[in-house]
Amino acid sequence: MSQLKPSLMDFTQKELTALVKPAFRAKQIYSWLYHNYASTYEEMKNLPKALKEELAEKYIVNPLKIVNKEESSDGTIKYLLELQDGKTMEAVWLKMKDKQLDEAGNTIQEAKYTICVSTQVGCKVGCTFCLTAKGGFTRDLSSAEIVAQVVTLKRDNNHKHNRKINIVYMGMGEPLDNLNNLAKAIEIFKEDEGLCIGAKRQTVSTSGLSTKIDKLGEMDLGVHIAISLHAVDDKLRSELIPMNKAHNINSIIEAVKRFPIDTRKRVMFEYLVIKNKNDDLESAKKLVKLLTDIKAKVNLIYFNPYPGTDYDRPEKKDMLAFQEYLVNHGLLCTIRDSKGIDISAACGQLKEKTQGEI
Ligand code: SAH
Ligand code: SF4
Repeated sequence: MSQLKPSLMDFTQKELTALVKPAFRAKQIYSWLYHNYASTYEEMKNLPKALKEELAEKYIVNPLKIVNKEESSDGTIKYLLELQDGKTMEAVWLKMKDKQLDEAGNTIQEAKYTICVSTQVGCKVGCTFCLTAKGGFTRDLSSAEIVAQVVTLKRDNNHKHNRKINIVYMGMGEPLDNLNNLAKAIEIFKEDEGLCIGAKRQTVSTSGLSTKIDKLGEMDLGVHIAISLHAVDDKLRSELIPMNKAHNINSIIEAVKRFPIDTRKRVMFEYLVIKNKNDDLESAKKLVKLLTDIKAKVNLIYFNPYPGTDYDRPEKKDMLAFQEYLVNHGLLCTIRDSKGIDISAACGQLKEKTQGEI
């Protein structure tokens, strides 16, 4: 594989300041990248030509190109993005709340958005329900390739740099399997003179690599975590998530208990509901027991079927009964409304479709 050129988006502001002289140039570059979403050196009007030429030899600006885009009626936009080496991955623009207007039609509150980002091309974990897993693992994303997803989607949606946005690391790949690049991207997102997306607005979702949950906790970045639990006993969980054999449910729960959590916040447990697999009340009962000592919130997700899968979407009535049981037993629980259900909602599905068409 040819060597990939690093990007200007690989650097924290401090690193960039050490790299370009005089120091105020780094501030200008940061502003071009994260306030103006520049994707070429030509756009950076106030930088000297010589500096731009020098930088262009070593670094590209934005390493991503939009190759496909599907927009859903609910405002969700799913992007297929191409990397420098021609590989592709996905990022999703999610509308969480509509714009609020008063009677006179004035804006009281702007619409709220969340960006779902990928951390790898493919994934090593191999979950049996997940389309991303079917293609195996290709490579980790660099920090810049993670950061650029947010820049690219904000730019494409004319979302001003000072508008708030949340990030969920729930796209393709297992974030904790690419921990160093992930941690660096989290820091770059946080930069005050960059995108200024605080750690509390960033949620890392993991299939449960318990030792890496500890490592992430030790880094003390201040991010939230979401655990993709999906099953309450190790037998079923190992069927759904093969690496559960090495990182079983108990080890995950213990790691979560050690994780530094903002006391006002809860740890999110994602529970993918699959018909006749884990949608019964006996499972709900075990889930309540498992989460007894944790300040948890459960997010029930409808399994989203795709051609060739052995699993089925659960019945709505079973979903509601499951939720009711949890709520009646003191657990906060939401059902994830299937955003973008008419496009290719679950991870890996747009990529699969586009490649199938080529
Ligand atoms: N690898 C991490 C990051 C997110 S994976 C993790 O597993 O937590 C992407 C998300 O998509 C996970 O929450 C997973 O449960 C969900 N997902 C995967 N396949 C799905 C499907 N077919 N239907 C619905 N959700 C799915
Ligand atoms: Fe990887 Fe997450 Fe898909 Fe499992 S669900 S294969 S961990 S991306």
